[in-house]
Amino acid sequence: MMSGKLFVISGPSGVGKGTLREHALNNIPGLVYSISCTTRKPRDGETDGVDYRFISHEKFREDIERGLFLEYAHVHEDYYGTLRADVEKELGRGRNVLLEIDVQGALQVKEKMPDAVLIFVAPPSIEVLEKRLRGRNTESESSLKVRLGNATKELELQNRYDYVIVNDDLDSSCEELRRIIL
Ligand code: 5GP
Repeated sequence: MMSGKLFVISGPSGVGKGTLREHALNNIPGLVYSISCTTRKPRDGETDGVDYRFISHEKFREDIERGLFLEYAHVHEDYYGTLRADVEKELGRGRNVLLEIDVQGALQVKEKMPDAVLIFVAPPSIEVLEKRLRGRNTESESSLKVRLGNATKELELQNRYDYVIVNDDLDSSCEELRRIIL
């Protein structure tokens, strides 16, 4: 059987990646999401095994040592990683796999799997991003500062991606992502 293709989306916190991801998963047959592991605590409404696999720092370090991660990174204030076995299993079944991970992770994936398609979601401007992040109301002021600081660094790396979607209008961005994947 033909093996599937790997798609990676990244972009700063608050840019709308989550919405784009959901839209793609609901509208593109044969596309599956790889659920990441994280040491971050679940937010209200998040479910273990659905949004993330929420694991301890200790378990995360163990899994790093066992070589279980295709990529992992320290993002904001926690560890996040993609399990290699998950991705390989789905690709082997001929499914296309979508990862939603940070820039450091995406570049690791590209190095190991050069056929992976990297898609960066950029905000129209930093000001718009800050407004959206504040509107989301999920972060404390300090965590917001961390996320905005990281956003600036991430934006500098968007030229390493195969595609850049500027998320000005959500509907057009969803359509753009769908077209790239199809
Ligand atoms: P959040 O804490 O807001 O859910 O996610 C924070 C950041 O971690 C986001 O930019 C998200 O894309 C990134 N992230 C989520 N899962 C992974 C992963 O498995 N690996 C890497 N490198 N980053 C991830």
